[in-house]
Amino acid sequence: MSFIIGKKCEGVCDTACVDVCPVDCINGPISVTGRGEEVENMTEEEKKGLQLYIDPTECINCGACLYECPVDAIYDDEEIAIAEGELDAVKKNYKFYGQEFKDIS
Ligand code: SF4
Repeated sequence: MSFIIGKKCEGVCDTACVDVCPVDCINGPISVTGRGEEVENMTEEEKKGLQLYIDPTECINCGACLYECPVDAIYDDEEIAIAEGELDAVKKNYKFYGQEFKDIS
């Protein structure tokens, strides 16, 4: 199980979480090696629908990112995210990194 970024990040892409992650596993919104810099010069309109992602296989569940997010978009567990109606967001995090999400619940 991994930390996951939910849909509240869409259109926000704040990089406070990226800056504190000790293993650099928060990326996007466009490149899997990006660190949010792609949105720096975008308008609010251009940012619509864009979000950051956590690589589920790299996240070490340290929790450093959780309280940095200004819009509370980060879940500390996939199961909790799914229970909160964020199954699509969980799948998006996996898909962004070319991984398949296997729902074992
Ligand atoms: Fe990075 Fe730790 Fe957040 Fe995982 S829990 S994304 S390792 S800061």
